[in-house]
Amino acid sequence: MPNGKPAGVRCVQLTDDLRCMLFGMPERPVFCGTLQPNEQMCGASSDEALHILTLLEIETRPEGPNP
Ligand code: SF4
Repeated sequence: MPNGKPAGVRCVQLTDDLRCMLFGMPERPVFCGTLQPNEQMCGASSDEALHILTLLEIETRPEGPNP
């Protein structure tokens, strides 16, 4: 995704079983390789992580949280 991944758009490198096709490869974006999981972002389960990340995407989209 040469122009970046817009909020709400699935990364083209994400497999159907939610794995990164670039994991461990130099082509993987630096941001992806340096992002450290934490409880504030991930919660205590994958369901909670998806909920929190969905809210973060809504709150940070370019057109604002209430377009
Ligand atoms: S880690 Fe980065 S490159 Fe890999 S699937 Fe997620 S967003 Fe895409």
